[in-house]
Amino acid sequence: MASAPVTFVGRRDERLSQPGPAMPWPRPAGAPGAFHVMAKPTGAICNLDCAYCFYLAKSELYPGGRFRMSQATMEQYVRQVLESQEGPEVTIAWQGGEPTLMGLGFFRRAVEVAEACRRPGQRLLHTLQTNATLLNDEWAEFLAQKGFLVGVSIDGPPELHDTYRVDKKGRATSPKVLAGLGLLRRHGVDYNVLCTVHAANASHPLEVYRYLRDDCGARFVQFIPIVEHAPSPGCPAAVSPRTVRPEQWGRFLIEVFEEWLAHDVGQVFVQAFDAALASWLGLPPGVCVFAETCGNAVALEHNGDVYSCDHFVDPAHLLGNLHDRHLLELLASERQRRFGQDKRDLLPGYCKRCDVLFACWGECPKNRFALAPDGSPGLNFLCAGYKAFFHHIDGTMRLMAALVRQGRPAAEVKAVFASAPRNSPCPCGSGEKSKYCHGVAASQ
Ligand code: SF4
Ligand code: SF4
Repeated sequence: MASAPVTFVGRRDERLSQPGPAMPWPRPAGAPGAFHVMAKPTGAICNLDCAYCFYLAKSELYPGGRFRMSQATMEQYVRQVLESQEGPEVTIAWQGGEPTLMGLGFFRRAVEVAEACRRPGQRLLHTLQTNATLLNDEWAEFLAQKGFLVGVSIDGPPELHDTYRVDKKGRATSPKVLAGLGLLRRHGVDYNVLCTVHAANASHPLEVYRYLRDDCGARFVQFIPIVEHAPSPGCPAAVSPRTVRPEQWGRFLIEVFEEWLAHDVGQVFVQAFDAALASWLGLPPGVCVFAETCGNAVALEHNGDVYSCDHFVDPAHLLGNLHDRHLLELLASERQRRFGQDKRDLLPGYCKRCDVLFACWGECPKNRFALAPDGSPGLNFLCAGYKAFFHHIDGTMRLMAALVRQGRPAAEVKAVFASAPRNSPCPCGSGEKSKYCHGVAASQ
């Protein structure tokens, strides 16, 4: 059992500019042992003007605000996260807006504070999600030295990336992004790529994936579908023209999956595929959108306000401020627990009867504004895409899960495909002859 934190809280707090609320002890019922905070030190402020960015509109929540996290708020965030996590590894995550607008000094100090507040044996992982356009050698050196994991937003080759990812003057951003990425690579910074999938790049899955893998050297890729709900009186489920269509999303995932299976399984980590394998193994997927319930990932605004989730930064989901109430108390609050359980409890009957519910769980509630075939509300807009994708990978996932259960690497699935007789049904369960299905890729 963990010892009462008061012993170190008192000691550590002397190093911080303000004491802040004490950690509730004993831990409140329902408090998660591990959780994630997405801290936005510049709030919604960014140096770019990406067409689909939902953050930019969020600045209206704080009219006249400076959108710069104070040192006192940074200290409270770091201290409260470190003292309330039960596991040995703790992530201090920074996101935007564009967090590098805070300047390097802010992050140097944040690392110092984290070191000061770290419990013996606690390992720190600093992460930073950035558009990479403001990085220079000094930044890259710092990020490498402190072991940051940096997420870079890239939507594919320049002609696709620059469709929506533009600066305040509407100019292409890819030259600066690639320069920033080059700096990270030269300095040996650990990085991954976050790629949003939208109307402009959704029809180019292989072009996008191969570019990220081959030109950007990405070994960890996260694809995020852009869904912008734009309801009108006559059409409550309408979406913006930038939104990826459900069938497009499904096809995108399927094509990337097949490319990954043929060439990269075991070498490149694609978050959605890893989550799927976990689900087929009966394990937690590690990604909130595919989990049964959520609520353990809150968003922290520049002024200390804490919201239920980064996708629900609005007055109805404001849990409180970490200068008044400890993060752990906010996470354990009945309101936040309910928020997380609603992900499962409010699923429409159509989802509850779905054969891939165990892998999909209705994805993110923010996208649940479509009608189910039986007319009931609350179906995920991307449902058709997810159904197609999860059905497509079912056979392969079963094989991979069986390998993992035997203590063998999932990548051995290629050997399973290669050993299947050419004229027998493919082991993936497609019904095709092996030589026309995965037998082809496996023999390449
Ligand atoms: S609302 Fe969506 S993004 Fe937020 S925690 Fe839940 S599943 Fe994740
Ligand atoms: S695939 Fe569709 S029906 Fe099935 S759980 Fe996902 S959103 Fe619901």
